[in-house]
Amino acid sequence: MLDTKMLIGSKFVTGTEAPDAVLNPRTEAKIVDLPDASPAQVDEAVNAAEKAFQSWSRTTPAERSGLLLKLADAIDREAEAFATLEALNTGKPRIRMLQDEMPAASDCFRFFAGAVRNLHGAVAGEYMAGHTSMIRRDPIGVIGSIAPWNYPLMMAVWKLAPALAGGNTIVIKPSEQTPLTTLKLAKTIAEIFPEGVVNVVTGRGATTGNALITHPKVAMVSLTGSVDTGRKVLLAASPTLKRTHLELGGKAPVIVFDDADIGSVVSGIKAFGYYNAGQDCTAACRIYAGKKIYDNLVADLSSAVKEIKYNLPNDDENEIGPLISSSQKARVQDFVDRAGKHRHMSITAGGKSPGGKGFFFEPTVVAGAKQDDEIVRKEVFGPVVSITRFDDVDQAVAWANDSDYGLASSVWTSDIGKGMATAARLQYGCTWINTHFMLVSEMPHGGLKFSGYGKDLSMYALEDYTVVRHVMVKL
Ligand code: NAD
Repeated sequence: MLDTKMLIGSKFVTGTEAPDAVLNPRTEAKIVDLPDASPAQVDEAVNAAEKAFQSWSRTTPAERSGLLLKLADAIDREAEAFATLEALNTGKPRIRMLQDEMPAASDCFRFFAGAVRNLHGAVAGEYMAGHTSMIRRDPIGVIGSIAPWNYPLMMAVWKLAPALAGGNTIVIKPSEQTPLTTLKLAKTIAEIFPEGVVNVVTGRGATTGNALITHPKVAMVSLTGSVDTGRKVLLAASPTLKRTHLELGGKAPVIVFDDADIGSVVSGIKAFGYYNAGQDCTAACRIYAGKKIYDNLVADLSSAVKEIKYNLPNDDENEIGPLISSSQKARVQDFVDRAGKHRHMSITAGGKSPGGKGFFFEPTVVAGAKQDDEIVRKEVFGPVVSITRFDDVDQAVAWANDSDYGLASSVWTSDIGKGMATAARLQYGCTWINTHFMLVSEMPHGGLKFSGYGKDLSMYALEDYTVVRHVMVKL
């Protein structure tokens, strides 16, 4: 049975505003109509979180850790059900969800359960004669969290785990397109955590989301979403000077030197450029290839990409799923059509929707792209990879850095020295060498420039979700 109710305090309730249809992107069929939370319900959720903060913020790290570990165990036990539900709501292959995202979700809670017990104030000592100073890391308050549709459960987990570990309480709003796994998670959380520590409201961004990010009692807003929404969060934060944590878009450059192992590059881009149908802010989508490797890379990658399995009736055989919505499909088609009109570019794989039911789009390669082309500069957020030829390392680095975004990047070469030297020059939150897309709970994920700021995962996220305080004692 679907969990369709929001969690406000200890109550499971239905939104009182107009309903929005939640669709199955694989079939385009409606799964359920979900009413949005009203501003009054958002207010109730924030008040419940504020009340719960009084006691939750004073629990010991060990107490919080214990509950986070219980939650991780519960997620592992229910992994099959979560994976089935996420596959239904996003269209991603269930097997990918089960094997990739579910273990990462419970690991994230386990990491923060351990991390919070190792969060130290940096110093204690007498910096003024007769006085002892110490540094504390304390919770911030009520966090308003807003999540996107590409990894609905995973993004909820990335926001909940460090915030809860740090002693904060939360009101989280999943994307209106993909609320189902977060609503299921709310059920699990309510069995483990005290009333009001986690609240879940559903609804559209402009209404429910806006009520949350403008609420005066929300101390910090954490968003994973588009750059436009990031700007709105910043404006909404200004009257009450809220803290903000923004994980926005990306357009990851992939620098392939002539000495790279072409087989690894092709299998890497085939996997990491198209994973989740390219609806990934780190997707390996902007390839810069050296002069000598360029032709072979275009040929080999185009053949490999044509083999990606994405619309087979047996979902276990699929490598990727459809796009999230018809509007996203139309947006991706428009990007590819505009690129195809330029004579210097050619579509060497894919290029269109396969037709039939579902928001599917063929895995696509656009060869011959130039630095100023839209396909190189704008985030497509679909299964589309561009390839651009470069002359030398300085040009590759300059082009890679010449982007509004700064989230993820990679360098492919058999010369590790060259790889390290190039990585050092890239202005991105993450650079991989001879791989792409690999995330671990211990290492930070987050961007520069229009990709936002603030880190998910790692001790740095725990720092973002706590505040440094100085306490001084006169001796
Ligand atoms: P979006 O900004 O449209 O929506 C994200 C969330 O913000 C949704 O829950 C939505 O309801 C809410 N929202 C929209 N308008 C709002 C408003 N005015 N006030 C409050 N909330 C509002 O983004 P999307 O289309 O759901 O997600 C795709 C985007 O997210 C892409 O640009 C992608 O790159 C980015 N993304 C970034 C990361 C990262 O880690 N940097 C990860 C995943 C996705």
